[in-house]
Formats: sequence, structure tokens, C-alpha cells
Amino acid sequence: MSRTAVVVGAGLSGSLMSVYLARRGFAVRVLERRGDPRTPGVREEGRSINLGLSQRGIVALREVGLLDRLKPATVPMRGRVVHAPDGTLRFQPYGTEEDQVLHSVLRHDLNVALIDEAERLGVDFRWGHRVTAVDRTVPSVIAGEEHAADLVVGADGAFSAVRAQLARGLRMDLHQEYLEWGYRELLIPLDDGGKPRTDPYALHVWPGDDGLIVAHPNADGTLTATIFLPFEGPAGFAGLDTPERVRAFFADRFPDVPALIPDVVEQFLDHPPASLVTIRASPWHTATDDGRGTVLLGDAAHAVYPFYGQGMNAAFEDCSVLDRCLAAHPDDLPAALAAFERFRRPHTDVLAELSKRNFVELRDRVRSPLFLARRKADLLLHRWFPRAWVPLYTLVSHTTTPYGEALARVRRQDRLLGGVTAALTGAVLAGLAHRSRAGRKVS
Ligand code: FAD
Repeated sequence: MSRTAVVVGAGLSGSLMSVYLARRGFAVRVLERRGDPRTPGVREEGRSINLGLSQRGIVALREVGLLDRLKPATVPMRGRVVHAPDGTLRFQPYGTEEDQVLHSVLRHDLNVALIDEAERLGVDFRWGHRVTAVDRTVPSVIAGEEHAADLVVGADGAFSAVRAQLARGLRMDLHQEYLEWGYRELLIPLDDGGKPRTDPYALHVWPGDDGLIVAHPNADGTLTATIFLPFEGPAGFAGLDTPERVRAFFADRFPDVPALIPDVVEQFLDHPPASLVTIRASPWHTATDDGRGTVLLGDAAHAVYPFYGQGMNAAFEDCSVLDRCLAAHPDDLPAALAAFERFRRPHTDVLAELSKRNFVELRDRVRSPLFLARRKADLLLHRWFPRAWVPLYTLVSHTTTPYGEALARVRRQDRLLGGVTAALTGAVLAGLAHRSRAGRKVS
């Protein structure tokens, strides 16, 4: 008899995990509080409209045979275009190799492709089913009625009801941190001639220490921009509450934006800002004595700030890792869940830190000459020694090196670079001292 699974949440990680589980022979039911996103008019509130898909997500989609089907709906992004306040643009390539590109994809298209594939494999989706309670001793969930299974997967996002229910009586460590900045999305439409208004094959960044914008291209030539601002203060969401203030703010801070988004004021004031949260939880799983279990994955286990573009990619990698753990322990579900958490959690904890650091980088440092010089040196060393020297961004976005190993490796490289820089600085200083002594002798 096949094993059963109940997955809570038909978002990106829940629908992909249901595909993996169905391929592994589980009879899968997915419970989702919203309506079917394939039904016209069903609103997908919150969350970004499009996402940057990188290597970890690509590998998972390839594993379940969906990559080739999705590729035509994605837009390659070969690097960042940095917009300076004086209107100058600077292109920073993502990497030195042809395949070191990110792919922009609509969340809706990706989600629908995953749901279609899961249904093709026999997964039973129940729309409009909000889970309100979990009994980890069965395990089962309540969504109106009780749904019991051998495996319950909590893939219900950053504000996971499954996590909250699991935490009851479990001594779960829970860390939740809100950023004091929020975000709003703005559409960069086509121009009057039906052409893209800016390079549609790059990610666009408007850095700034008190506000920043990031824009991803869409397949139709439009771009979706996300403006990140402090919630409070006169130049934050709270203070920018009239058309005049918003118009003056963009003219001052992002002067090239009104030409790209002619109705930027209306769009900006159209909807409230959304918040950004980091979540860390421990443990992620529980097991029963008779070999059943409950596990969290994706944002439910580890929501991160979006500044490394890794939330979905990490969630997809979770699904791939959990699938491998199930393969390694075919007759022992608790052992598979324990292996998953043991292997995975230290790395997603590192990702949370990296995502915070990248907020600072995007905000302040992409304009700093020191940062740009360092980035150039990184890429140059990578070109000269492609195996020995790999920049952190490349390891995170273009490889599947576990996040913790990527960070440890880059720290070793940094020590080496520090040594080289110190040696060079020492040599330069020694040279200067020698010249000044020689100069004194002459004079
Ligand atoms: P979610 O996508 O949140 O899905 C959870 C699902 O569970 C939803 O469908 C929800 O309706 C359902 N649900 C919730 N509660 C219940 C309940 N009680 N009962 C039943 N169903 C329930 N990641 C990237 O990799 N690249 C990017 O470029 C990127 N950009 C981003 C930009 C922004 C502005 C933001 C906010 C995030 C970005 N992310 C990005 C992160 C990415 O959106 C998330 O990591 C990803 O959506 C996580 O997927 P998930 O399935 O775990 O959670």
C-alpha cells in the first residue's frame, strides 16, 4: 500500500514538494487556503509578482522534468544595471561564464506549471482549505475536517499555521525579525511604440542608503520594479502620503524613474506597503513512534529577506534535499526527516545572514568604489583561477554548494586576498619609504 502525504500550502514549495512526493509513490493531498490560481479572477495577494530563478531552483526543476517546459516563459538576466542619481547606468555582469545568468519568471506561471504537473501525477488539490490545527501525534491537520497522513508537510509560508501549531508544547526555538523597511511593486510598462523602456535582459538596481529599487524583466518586455523604503519618516512610506510628496521624492531620489513609469505617483499610492521578515525555527520536524512525521520547509521553516534572491531557490532546494533523504531512508520516515533537518538547517541559517548582508550591499555598497574594485578583483581572480577562486555571489547563485560551505570557502579566499593585499601594501609602503630616503639624500 502506498504511503500518504498531506501538504499544507500550494505555493511554490508546497506544489513542488507534492510533485517530488508523487514521483516517489506517495498518495498526496494538498490543502490550500486560497482558490485555484488557474481560475480567472483568483487574486494572489502579497508576495512579489516575478522572481529570479538561479541554479538551486533550476536544478530542482530539472530533477522533476519541468525546466525545459518553463524555460520559454523566463527572461535571462546577464547582470545588474546600476542606475545612478545622475542618470548614468553601469552594467555589472553576474559572472564570467555564459551560463552564469539568472532567469526572471512570473510567480503565477511557475506556480501553475507546478500545480499542473502535480495534478498530472495524481495529486489531489483541495482549494479554499485553510488549515487551523495540527495534531503531530497522529499526524493530522484540521481544515474544516481532519486529514491524517503518514507525512504532513508544512509549506504554508512565512506565517505558517503548521509551524505555530507544532510549536505548542514542543520547546520550539522561534526567531522572527521584521525589517524596518517595507516594499511596494511598480510596473514599468512598454513605451508608446510597444518597446521595453530599458534593458530587458538585466536586473536593474537603484541603490540608496534610505531607499532602493530593484526591477526584474517580464517576458512581454515590461519590468516589475520593487521599491524598498523605511516604513517611517518623511522619506518613508508613512511620510510619502500625497501625490505632491511622492512626485517630489522621485524627482529628488530616483530622477530617471518617472520617465520609465509615467504613472509612478498613482501606482505608488495605489496599495499599502508589505513587510519583510526573517524567520528561523528549530526543530523543523517531529516523528511518531510508529514511523510517521511532520516537517516544515520553504518559508515556513526559514523565511529570509529577498535581497539575495534566494528564498524560492532555497525552498526548491529544500524539496530536492528532502526527496534525497526519503530515497536514502525508504523504510524509515523519521530517519529521513531527521537527516533532512540535520543537513539543511545550518545552511539556511547562513542564508538568513547572507540575505541581511546583501541588503546592506544593495543599499550602500554597489556604488562604493572600494566595493566595485573588490568585485572586479573577485571576478578577475575567478577568470584566472576558475576552480580555485569563486566569488560568494557566484557560489550562492550559480552553484549548489551548500550555503554554509560557500561562506566558509569565501572566508578562506578573503584571508588569502587580505594576505595578498597586505603584502602588496607592504611592498608599496616599503618602496615609498625607500624613495623618500633616497630623495632626502639627494636634496
Ligand atoms: P509561499 O509562497 O508563501 O506559499 C505558501 C502557501 O501556503 C500560499 O499559497 C498560502 O496561501 C498557503 N497557506 C498559508 N497559510 C495556510 C493555511 N493555514 N492553510 C492552507 N494554506 C495556507 N525568492 C527567490 O528565490 N528569488 C527572488 O527573486 C525573490 N524575490 C522576492 C521578492 C520579494 C519582494 C519577496 C517578498 C520575496 C521574494 N522571494 C524571492 C522569496 C520567495 O517569494 C519565497 O521564498 C517563496 O515564495 C517561498 O515559497 P513557499 O511556498 O515556502 O511560501
